[in-house]
Amino acid sequence: MTTAPADLSHLSPAGRAPEHLPAVPAEQVEALAAELRTLLGDTGVSDEAAALDRASVDGAEMSPVVKDLLPLGRAQLVAYPKDAEQIAAVVGAAVRHGVPVTVRGKGTGNYGQAIPMAGGLVLDTTRARSVVEVGEGYLVADAGAPIVQLEQAAMRSGQQLLMYPSTVQSTLGGFVSGGSGGTGSIKHGMLHNDFVTSLDVVHAVPDAELIHLEGKETEAYLHNYGTAGVIARIGVALEPAQDWRAFYASFEDVHDAFGLIRQISALEPTPRLVSADGPRITAALPADEALPADRSSLRAILDAATVEAATALVEAAGGTVEAVREGLQQTMKLSTISYNHPIEWLMKSSPDERWFHVEVSGDSLVDRLDEVQEVYPGALLHIEGQAGRPIGMLAAPYTSSADVWPGFERLVALEVGFHNPHQWYVDYQPDAVRAMAPVNDPHGLLNPGKLAEPTVWTGAGSKMVVPMPDLDAE
Ligand SMILES: Cc1cc2nc3c(=O)[nH]c(=O)nc-3n(C[C@H](O)[C@H](O)[C@H](O)COP(=O)(O)OP(=O)(O)OC[C@H]3O[C@@H](n4cnc5c(N)ncnc54)[C@H](O)[C@@H]3O)c2cc1C
Repeated sequence: MTTAPADLSHLSPAGRAPEHLPAVPAEQVEALAAELRTLLGDTGVSDEAAALDRASVDGAEMSPVVKDLLPLGRAQLVAYPKDAEQIAAVVGAAVRHGVPVTVRGKGTGNYGQAIPMAGGLVLDTTRARSVVEVGEGYLVADAGAPIVQLEQAAMRSGQQLLMYPSTVQSTLGGFVSGGSGGTGSIKHGMLHNDFVTSLDVVHAVPDAELIHLEGKETEAYLHNYGTAGVIARIGVALEPAQDWRAFYASFEDVHDAFGLIRQISALEPTPRLVSADGPRITAALPADEALPADRSSLRAILDAATVEAATALVEAAGGTVEAVREGLQQTMKLSTISYNHPIEWLMKSSPDERWFHVEVSGDSLVDRLDEVQEVYPGALLHIEGQAGRPIGMLAAPYTSSADVWPGFERLVALEVGFHNPHQWYVDYQPDAVRAMAPVNDPHGLLNPGKLAEPTVWTGAGSKMVVPMPDLDAE
């Protein structure tokens, strides 16, 4: 997210979606399919319509702006390598046939990042799911390993992941390529902050092979949607396991619930997660007696040693502790109703309404809550504790894209940092990806369409806000 204030002069809504990139000629795809069948066997590759359809969608529908632009591309072939070595072999084959490669984990990434905009090959990693090694302070797994499986593997050795996203069934490769943080981020920040210890990456070259990287070298491959290289195997840091509790509190007044976000986040040992919602979003969450539908909710994953202090804070603020639950299943359940999930539940709860959201950050989310919610008519804020300052998702009924952009300026005026999620461009150090391309992707075959033209950069810091198409002008 940007930190306010930002230069908004570029935010003209007059841009257009990129034209669909041309699909790959059928004979090239067929030649690649034949080679992949030899490499992976008949079940390791598919050109069936249902498989191609499944490989061509992701979490883009969370944005009505992007949803109105779908379909943005369709796979022509899908490959299912079973380990890191096969991932490298698949990339090499695609390059030799001149076919673009869009990697796909579980396809939960938001906003079209995993859509194969130039067609070609989708490399689905979900069968490459082995946990290769669990050691003291680290774990190594193939890219398609589901996050929940990794947390379980870590726990069997008395350890835990530093962080994981609310999409706990998503893949580790997808998380480090498309995600940013989640449960654990109050203490450990975002995934660029020493979460990844090693990577085996694959460049888009004809003789592709696994390249092993450690420490700082790995950073150039994180959060850029597979445009810098295909991540085949990942080492992540572990820490000693803690005794966690799922903590639920409710409040009459949303200001009291949100007002505690920073204090609960500051407890020691640091909570793994602290989320809060007003009554409308709380009522949209999966039914639970610990989530009274007419009240605001504060939910936290707390170290057992801090439950008493958290209870005292809740009661002093006029709230009620609804439940304190134990066990991995209970704490994971709280993770699965954090970050973007409350917004997704809100959307599901009112299918006749269209909602959009903007990712927001800063103390104003608490201190100026009413003004923040007035930025868009009918807006509701979901909030998360974070290191330094809260972050959140500001959701509002969607009218048109032209009504979304002016809100950015109003957020900045309230000293709210924001990130425009209605776009699929790499927004973390895209210039660095571009600079690596001659070596990593000399033929431009890695996830084409995700690096925007440099003219749309904000030029401020490493983040950018890309102007999006004015659909209403079409
Ligand atoms: C409801 C909801 C809640 C979410 N909550 C969170 C959250 O708490 N925290 C968070 O960070 N994100 C969150 N996300 C975003 C996303 O779900 C996560 O980042 C997730 O971990 C992505 O994993 P995936 O396996 O689904 O990846 P995919 O969606 O399949 O891929 C994501 C991106 O990474 C690329 N990619 C995938 N695998 C590789 C690889 N091996 N090598 C190179 N590139 C690759 C893809 O091409 C794509 O661009 C949320 C999304 C939704 C819809």
